Amino acid sequence: SLSGKTAVVTGSNSGIGLGIAWEMARAGANVILNSFTDRDEDHALAREIADQTGVEARYIRADMSRGDDCRALIEQAGSCDILVNNAGIQHVAPIDQFPVEKWDAIIAINLTSAFHTTAAALPKMRAAGWGRVVNIASAHGLTASPYKSAYIAAKHGIVGMTKTVALETAEEPITANAICPGYVLTPLVEAQIPDTMKEYDMSRDDVVRNVMLARQPSKEFATVEQLGGTAVFLCSDAAAQITGTTISVDGGWTAL
Ligand code: NAD
Repeated sequence: SLSGKTAVVTGSNSGIGLGIAWEMARAGANVILNSFTDRDEDHALAREIADQTGVEARYIRADMSRGDDCRALIEQAGSCDILVNNAGIQHVAPIDQFPVEKWDAIIAINLTSAFHTTAAALPKMRAAGWGRVVNIASAHGLTASPYKSAYIAAKHGIVGMTKTVALETAEEPITANAICPGYVLTPLVEAQIPDTMKEYDMSRDDVVRNVMLARQPSKEFATVEQLGGTAVFLCSDAAAQITGTTISVDGGWTAL
């Protein structure tokens, strides 16, 4: 059980981050939810997790595109035994037409935020004598696709940073690993289905199977519960010697 531990999950008012927060809470960890929005719904999500699981849950606003916000999130969390760097955005365009501000935002939110949160969290983990860094990379941290230069650069970057953090903490009771999901049916992905149906004049089933899951041999989406379960596993005693590596949850994508 993760009872008594605190998990900080960046970008966790939706999708995979929220799924991970739920599974951490079900495993007994107190959780800190985060996004840049600070709406009533965000605080309500934290109350719902606390009510349903009995752990302490709190929402903290912080913009992961800003280094000072990233560090302030870890300070305001108090304890940070488990750090899940999950916040991420996407933009799709050929590299010669890729908007500079999109490149900068993707590198800041998907990669540099994890540098700041990890730098702020490691001293707390060292003081507590235990720590887990779980970075949400992607199948695109290990392989590429066209038109996603910034995302793929950031995700390969976070896989590399994960290995470095693992080496810097190798002799301590701290591990650092990256989870590499394939396609997960989050609100972000769901929102792309109607446009893609129109673009290719395809049914929903054809878009899912032949466009989205074209490279996912299982032909099934991974779920946010499965991602949460994988993150909880990385925090278990069984995973104490797993560090500096990636776990793919991608239905066979990277086996192709
Ligand atoms: P999502 O859009 O549902 O969630 C993204 C989260 O990041 C939201 O909670 C959002 O509030 C937060 N966020 C965005 N910008 C932020 C900012 N500036 N500051 C703080 N929070 C911010 O998307 P998701 O699919 O759940 O993605 C979560 C992570 O999983 C991302 O890193 C993404 O790259 C990765 N991932 C997703 C898939 C997939 O198929 N959905 C696959 C592989 C990897």
